[in-house]
Amino acid sequence: MSNPFLKQVFNKDKTFRPKRKFEPGTQRFELHKKAQASLNAGLDLKLAVQLPPGEELSDWVAVHVVDFFNRVNLIYGTIGDECTEQSCPVMSGGPKYEYRWQDEHQFRKPTALSAPRYMDLLMDWIEVQINNEELFPTHVGTPFPKNFLQVVRKILSRLFRVFVHVYIHHFDRIAQMGSEAHVNTCYKHFYYFVKEFGLIDTKELEPLKEMTARMCH
Ligand SMILES: [Zn+2]
Repeated sequence: MSNPFLKQVFNKDKTFRPKRKFEPGTQRFELHKKAQASLNAGLDLKLAVQLPPGEELSDWVAVHVVDFFNRVNLIYGTIGDECTEQSCPVMSGGPKYEYRWQDEHQFRKPTALSAPRYMDLLMDWIEVQINNEELFPTHVGTPFPKNFLQVVRKILSRLFRVFVHVYIHHFDRIAQMGSEAHVNTCYKHFYYFVKEFGLIDTKELEPLKEMTARMCH
């Protein structure tokens, strides 16, 4: 695509990816409903993330990863028009943290990219992982692979970077749209979840450390 305007529109549309849904009637769907119900009941987020008795950890984690992907994707989509090659030529979280993209295809070495380009690759990559039936099996009784939690750690670490960029570079826009409380709740939920199961290294959480200390007790 050579027309820069078209490319922009195309990319913008891409930030609103369709939500990954759970098939009604499946065990995963029931678990998703259970997780939603405890949130809707106003249960303390710190308690809401705990593994319900009798449930499998992998199932619980899978449901949350998909849910967080959907929500973070939507949050980034709402500020997407403000996050451009011009405004964010580098994917960063303030002057101290710069993220480089690496994958198994085009970018085999860590590569500095603009934030929108980085986000696009990041969301595409996560989408491929969660739609991979071998990694995230949807059929009852199909076991999760041995490297499941390892992949989950990578997915969540990358999703965390979206929070970092949005909070540090685009929070004005979030506040302007009145979405502050919504984004904060999503962040807290995400943070308590990764903490509960030790799914992100402390080093990765560093850029939002002070904010987290104020927000999550
Ligand atoms: Zn940006």
